Amino acid sequence: MVNTTEFMPLALPVDRATLVRLQGRACIVCGDAEGPLLAVGHVETTSGDGAVLPWAVVACAEHRGSAS
Ligand SMILES: [Zn+2]
Repeated sequence: MVNTTEFMPLALPVDRATLVRLQGRACIVCGDAEGPLLAVGHVETTSGDGAVLPWAVVACAEHRGSAS
């Protein structure tokens, strides 16, 4: 799976606010949870043992361009 956003892989564990963004429930850039939120690709997380997990993330209208 390709990391399709500009974000570098995030080291786990992430904080709660970041987790909400990774779960696609808030804009990956600013954390805005109000709609409309559109899919912009995937952000990867890495755990200590090197496992990489892709998350489908969303962005608000304002950040749609900067995150894709
Ligand atoms: Zn945003």
